[in-house]
Amino acid sequence: MKIVFITPEVVPFSKTGGLADVSGALPVELANAGNDVIVYSPLYKSVDTRKYNIVPVKRSIFVPISGRMESVDIYESLDYRPNPHIRFLFLSCEKYFKRENLYGEGNKDYPDNHERFGLFSRSIFEVLKSLGFTPDIIHCNDWQTGIVPVYLKCIYSQDSFYSGTRSLITIHNMAYQGLFDSYTMDILMLPWSLFNYRELEYYGKLNFLKAGLIFSDAITTVSKKYAEEIRTPEYGCGLEGVLEERKNNLYGILNGVDYSVWDPSVDSLLPQKYSVKDLSGKKECKKLLLKKMGLTYEENTPVIGIISRLADQKGFDLLFELKERILNIGAKFVILGTGDKKYHDHFTELKERYPDKIGLLLGFDNTLAHLIEAGSDFFLMPSRYEPCGLNQMYSLRYGTFPIVRGVGGLDDTIIDIDTDREKGNGFKFYDYKSEELLRTIERALRFYREEKAIEKFIRRIMEFDFSWTVSAKKYAALYEKLLGRDNRISQLF
Ligand code: ADP
Repeated sequence: MKIVFITPEVVPFSKTGGLADVSGALPVELANAGNDVIVYSPLYKSVDTRKYNIVPVKRSIFVPISGRMESVDIYESLDYRPNPHIRFLFLSCEKYFKRENLYGEGNKDYPDNHERFGLFSRSIFEVLKSLGFTPDIIHCNDWQTGIVPVYLKCIYSQDSFYSGTRSLITIHNMAYQGLFDSYTMDILMLPWSLFNYRELEYYGKLNFLKAGLIFSDAITTVSKKYAEEIRTPEYGCGLEGVLEERKNNLYGILNGVDYSVWDPSVDSLLPQKYSVKDLSGKKECKKLLLKKMGLTYEENTPVIGIISRLADQKGFDLLFELKERILNIGAKFVILGTGDKKYHDHFTELKERYPDKIGLLLGFDNTLAHLIEAGSDFFLMPSRYEPCGLNQMYSLRYGTFPIVRGVGGLDDTIIDIDTDREKGNGFKFYDYKSEELLRTIERALRFYREEKAIEKFIRRIMEFDFSWTVSAKKYAALYEKLLGRDNRISQLF
């Protein structure tokens, strides 16, 4: 198949969260299976064009937007190409993408995000034509690409070049929908007849994600449990009705892990590698992590790691409610995160009060993220909701026990050790209550202090396999179903 994977962020070029990891791994897996794949994302200012030898391959492609034709260039990475069947292409348009960040600055979205991602979505059609690449599938991701299926069905389906193309959208997070004023219809140059509540309108606004959900041929999300949750008012963020209507075309496919990047036996970002056969490097990583975070190493004091966007979704208010109780439980915390100011303030205050118990870095640091996975004993994710979550799966491979709330992908991947000694791989609670969180951390620490065979457990969790192979097969089967070629769906889901 010829597949186009359109995404607002992709590792190793750009990243704010898990979507970038998925975009960097799933298309490669699809290409490894013999499909021809194009990954398409914006050329942000932060993309390292020198390192990856990213050069222009097409100049002056004209894209209709806001009643005019915008001239854009297409760049391609020549040096980063894990498989000859895959190409990483970038939309270059300085006016829209040569900015400090991907989506906004100082806790505020860029005011023209509708235009930026409208242009991005529309450009894919002009770019593919100029390259002569007729896609079988356009795989969209999140609200930033939600208008792609609309363009395909309402404008480009008349074009014989795209008559056989099918689209699919993956929801990585229901809470970010891309809601804009109605005049955006004119910017996107879409017919106003689509601005009604059964199509693009959402309470007087234009909703990019809703548009994608309605106009795509299939919808996926990143875990089975989240696929169920988002059909309820609690997790559907107002679009549960749309999803209920499309439930026959909604699939939950768990994200995988790119073990060429996230595995301590090959991880070149670690000061010392380790593996199931020889765990000694893990202790070294712990020592170095603590040193780096300004904390002293104590042989028997467990370390709880946190790496996260600091947003309400991630559940850290539960931690703050516990106040000093959480710091008197006999563990140290290492925290890496960035996001909402209120969390920055809370964590900074905690750090000031307990400098010997908390190591804190407010920012984005990929190397430190790897070291935290390796050097921690536990990894904390008390999420309010979690579509899939990657860090709990990374933690397993690094022999670090996840402590999670049982929602979305966290529930699908983590089995409580106290409930199932044979298959358990972490610690889990359900009620969104600080007392529950505290009890669960206490259980985990008791296990750390009392379990004689802890190394056996560490080795066991390191052997859990969440590689992309299985999930990529599911995506491929779904694409084939959309193309009316084959129906392996029932065997795979
Ligand atoms: P989400 O996509 O909701 O942010 P995921 O668990 O799916 O959550 O993915 C988060 C990804 O982003 C992981 O790869 C994690 O290591 C990384 N990450 C999050 N915050 C930071 C940070 N401050 N520094 C480095 N990496 C981070």
